[in-house]
Amino acid sequence: MRKQGRAQSEVLAELDNLRTRDVPWNRVLNSICTVPHEAALRAGQAALDSNLGDLRIFRGCREVEQKALALMGGLLGKADCAGSLVSGGTEANLLAMYVARKRRPDIAHPEIVAGETVHYSFGKVCDMLGITLRVVGLDERFRMRPDAALEAINGNTIALVGTAGSSEFGAVDPIEELAAIAHRRDLYFHVDAATGGFIIPFARALGRDLPQFDFSLAGVSSIAMDPHKYGMSIIPAGAVFFRDQALRDSINLESFFNATPTHHSLIGTRSGAAAAATYAVLETLGFDGYLDVTRKNYRVMDYLIEQLVQHGYRLVAPPQLNIVNVDLPNAVEVMRALEECGWIISVSKRFRHCLRLVVTHHVDEAMVDEFVERLRSIATPPAL
Ligand SMILES: *Cc1c(COP(=O)(O)O)cnc(C)c1O
Repeated sequence: MRKQGRAQSEVLAELDNLRTRDVPWNRVLNSICTVPHEAALRAGQAALDSNLGDLRIFRGCREVEQKALALMGGLLGKADCAGSLVSGGTEANLLAMYVARKRRPDIAHPEIVAGETVHYSFGKVCDMLGITLRVVGLDERFRMRPDAALEAINGNTIALVGTAGSSEFGAVDPIEELAAIAHRRDLYFHVDAATGGFIIPFARALGRDLPQFDFSLAGVSSIAMDPHKYGMSIIPAGAVFFRDQALRDSINLESFFNATPTHHSLIGTRSGAAAAATYAVLETLGFDGYLDVTRKNYRVMDYLIEQLVQHGYRLVAPPQLNIVNVDLPNAVEVMRALEECGWIISVSKRFRHCLRLVVTHHVDEAMVDEFVERLRSIATPPAL
């Protein structure tokens, strides 16, 4: 650290300058996060000094958190589910697996069963909690196969994990069938809806053919959903919901100070800004606002697909949520060439022939046109 500080204006100017190196949103097609809603940005800014780790001071913020949780919980089919605002999908999944492990102290070598496209956060979570992750095969649309899940479940299984919107394909596992399996076996069932949580309720209302994924299914024990992705809040805003208070309370931890509430999330000092931002965007948009956002995202995605197909490209599967994968044998090279032209797209290390494009709030038809033109200049579609 320098001995004497610099002028604040000079430091801020340096930071502004560094930010100009970030890729502008209108060249971003790989990110599930997007430009936050204006209400979220403003509310977040106004609450930057708050700390949800100290609820004796931040009484108002505590209420904000409760209100945000109630609004999200209301989307999940059980008004009295018990939620926590957390830092994101990783923490949400960690807390869910922590609860699942606490629930079965009798199992010495715990395992969980999930589909091959389960999010990589489960690698971290299982390592931290001493759980073995068993992944099972997918169907032709990259969804976990329930028959494969049944085969993998054994006496050490403490939880089944379904993904409602995989990061790679936006594929929604057959949550209804998986929930039924879990329910029959009294198995904990966690739904990772970090991506789909803010899409599926609205897409279903718009008539899209997607399975139910929430507590209206008897077998669902917990759900992760991320306001900082399709919810259009600011980072870090995640959420985890448990079917009932008792499940959530199984990981309560006492602080050693008097008169302070117990914790039931991992992080101690927590951002009240994220809670305020999340509440602000939920209240500002309302159900109809999110319907509009979702309708627009599907419209732009359908346009993207139409343009791609018209120019001879093929998709690896019809997308369920707003993630499109183009079948290209040299997808990694194309990704690099696109990046040299300023465009950021992604290719999974596991599915190297899939050029992955994410449609979210900042993507529109004009951007799609520019992208498809650029893609055509780089990659001719493979012959049929
Ligand atoms: C993004 C994502 C996660 C991880 O969430 P973070 O907010 O990045 O910690 C987990 N699961 C799925 C399906 C995701 O899309």
